[in-house]
Amino acid sequence: MLIAEIFHSLQGEGELTGVPSVFIRTSGCNLRCAWCDTPYASWKPEGQPRTLDEIVAEVERHPAEHVVLTGGEPMIAPAIRELAAELKMLGYHLTVETAATVAPEGIACDLASLSPKLLNSAPDRAAHPEWHKRHEATRWQPDVVRAWVDHYAYQFKFVVTAPTDLEEIEGMLQKLDREIPRHKVLLMPEARTLATMRDRAPWLVELCKARGFRYAHRLHIELWGNRRGV
Ligand code: SF4
Repeated sequence: MLIAEIFHSLQGEGELTGVPSVFIRTSGCNLRCAWCDTPYASWKPEGQPRTLDEIVAEVERHPAEHVVLTGGEPMIAPAIRELAAELKMLGYHLTVETAATVAPEGIACDLASLSPKLLNSAPDRAAHPEWHKRHEATRWQPDVVRAWVDHYAYQFKFVVTAPTDLEEIEGMLQKLDREIPRHKVLLMPEARTLATMRDRAPWLVELCKARGFRYAHRLHIELWGNRRGV
């Protein structure tokens, strides 16, 4: 399994913000978001091949009770289901961070952190014509999202770049045809720097107040900025 990094930190986003956790970042993604903050796991996938035993041993070196499977897109990593099953058997709480473009098919998971991508994520058509087409054909798959929502505890995390994104989010939620509690829908300002996050926070906070969504600050950017391994 190609692993970009394994590190011990605090969860930076979502319902478990602040919880000490070990992050396993697989390398490789089936999308190419224009603003991807982990290009070393998507646009230019880096990493070391690691066996399941090596990964589990690395996790066990840390005192955390929570593990986050992230990427890239962890759901396309070969043996991800075996890894999740092993970690679950060892008693870890497992969060799977996914863009929800790959069906869960029974993967062990305590919290599905679903981050379907909006139109704002599309890579530049002129610079990346092939990836633009693949990205747009892949990023939103309501049937796959429903398969997660119907079988797992979940949260949604949407990356927002402009107030106009809100209509797209409302449309996607409606299309799911499920009762999605508004507090399970977290809206995060797209930001790789503290300055951008703080710039976008005020209008996003107001939109969350008006529509009942949950505002999601990004603790890791607040604490460490845009750095790897934190
Ligand atoms: S889905 Fe995530 S890892 Fe993949 S390109 Fe988009 S932001 Fe990057």
